[in-house]
Amino acid sequence: MVREMPNTAYRRLGLDRALMEIGPRVAAFLDLGEHRAEFTWDIGDSVEQRHFTVTLARIAFRAEPRCLVTFVDHTGELRTEQNLRREMATDSLTGLPNRSGFGDMLETVIASGNSNYAVMVVDLDRFSRINACLGSMAGDELLMALARRIKGALRVRDMLARTGGDEFGILLSLDDSRDEAEHVAKRIRAVLSAPFRLSDYEIHVSCSIGIAFVDETVNEAEDVIRHAQFAVKRSKHSGQAEAYQNQAFVRAREEFALETALRRAIEESQLTLHYQPICDLATGRIVSFEALARWTDRDGVPQSPSTFIPVAEESGLIVPLGRWAIDEAVRTLASWDRRSGGDCGVSVSVNLSAIQLQRDAVAPIVAAALDQHGLPGHRLRLELTESALVAEPDRIARVLHALKALGTTIAMDDFGTGYSNLAYLQKLPIDILKIDRSFVTGMLADRDKVAIVRAVLGLAAALNMRTVAEGIEAVEVGQTLAALGCTCGQGYAYSRPLEGDAAYQLLRESNN
Ligand code: C2E
Ligand code: CA
Ligand code: CA
Repeated sequence: MVREMPNTAYRRLGLDRALMEIGPRVAAFLDLGEHRAEFTWDIGDSVEQRHFTVTLARIAFRAEPRCLVTFVDHTGELRTEQNLRREMATDSLTGLPNRSGFGDMLETVIASGNSNYAVMVVDLDRFSRINACLGSMAGDELLMALARRIKGALRVRDMLARTGGDEFGILLSLDDSRDEAEHVAKRIRAVLSAPFRLSDYEIHVSCSIGIAFVDETVNEAEDVIRHAQFAVKRSKHSGQAEAYQNQAFVRAREEFALETALRRAIEESQLTLHYQPICDLATGRIVSFEALARWTDRDGVPQSPSTFIPVAEESGLIVPLGRWAIDEAVRTLASWDRRSGGDCGVSVSVNLSAIQLQRDAVAPIVAAALDQHGLPGHRLRLELTESALVAEPDRIARVLHALKALGTTIAMDDFGTGYSNLAYLQKLPIDILKIDRSFVTGMLADRDKVAIVRAVLGLAAALNMRTVAEGIEAVEVGQTLAALGCTCGQGYAYSRPLEGDAAYQLLRESNN
């Protein structure tokens, strides 16, 4: 739309001013001998500003340099665009910025590099029920009332937005401490605690509040909003405002909680042992039971040893846990003997952690357990992993010899997965190699696994050790292993780990 500068604008803004501002540029244009130039030019105050594109074109006029100046007025287009943008960023019901407007505000704050901000997300609990029961008109009315109340709980410098159907976002500017955000959250809860009156109804509203802080680690508005929404989920469970914490922090806290609960479980004897049979692959008879720790926490959630054993090792709790496991396994085996009226015919295998071997006096503890429950050493098998041999090899060698002197059997667990100095292995009093589950499960479909299993079996034969294959989930795998010369096997194909009584039952049924 090209037209001459309207007369009215001339009059209102003053031709003088236009000439004053454009004049020097025209003069410079002519001096430089250019033929065409274009620039934007704004005139007026913030209330009534007009925006032009100005084009300068040199024309020949009686050999004198002259210039044709064209003004294109874009004011109307720009206003329409601004209005549209504002509308797109505004929630039509409450007149507050919507999700996109909120994102824009936050983007500006993040770009400014000032990190004294927090995003708070207020999520109404069970709002859909209100829409469903009272109709969407009442729902709308309630939302407007809510927006007014929340706004009343904020400080002038905080910015409120409606970021979703029943979700409000607040951009809080913080003075010095992060506690301010919590104070604001408390005020919001307080103002929402009074019931809302809609026609004949009195409506009680509750909300969950999540807070995320703008810091160096975030560079996108979406991230901060997502973090605050993540915290809302925790708030729904805890019933109080929650601040977002990053993954590492959450994990550390969970581990600490797990450690505390595990400590209590050990003190209150909440742990149990389950027993998984180890079978002679040639005859199918059970020769031993591996004792595996089991823990169901106070909320009734079963915790896997793969989770709590590492926590126990890190916290040192593995020492009391390991002592308990040795005693409990030997006690159970002694009780089976009594029920059988003599030696029930199997040994029990207990896992020893590397940390436990380093920190505790394992041999005296084993001796005490055997003594207390009246069992000879050969009824106990101790499983340790290769990692146990790495630190302080001399001390470990002494411990193993002491255990051997008690008559116990020693098995190398998870063989093939860790560090193995074969020459060193040969010097230690190890009786059994347990081939790790990762080589056994599914080995029939994998040549590489078969090759590794063969190699381990060859090594065991050369070192004069027996072998136990772990993780046999299919009977055919057991048969193949037997054909390859593996002595014993363990896995779901024979039995899952069982409670003490069930394990004893299985023993009675299968070895008779
Ligand atoms: P591990 O010593 O290698 O124990 C064998 C694991 O394989 C057990 O897992 C057992 O339930 C599982 N398993 C047995 N047969 C099969 C099978 O056919 N298929 C599959 N997929 N898995 C099978 P669990 O009971 O979860 O124990 C995990 C690990 O926790 C044990 O691995 C052991 O390292 C540790 N652990 C358990 N109890 C104790 C304990 O009392 N003391 C110590 N230090 N460690 C323990
Ligand atoms: Ca084991
Ligand atoms: Ca193992």
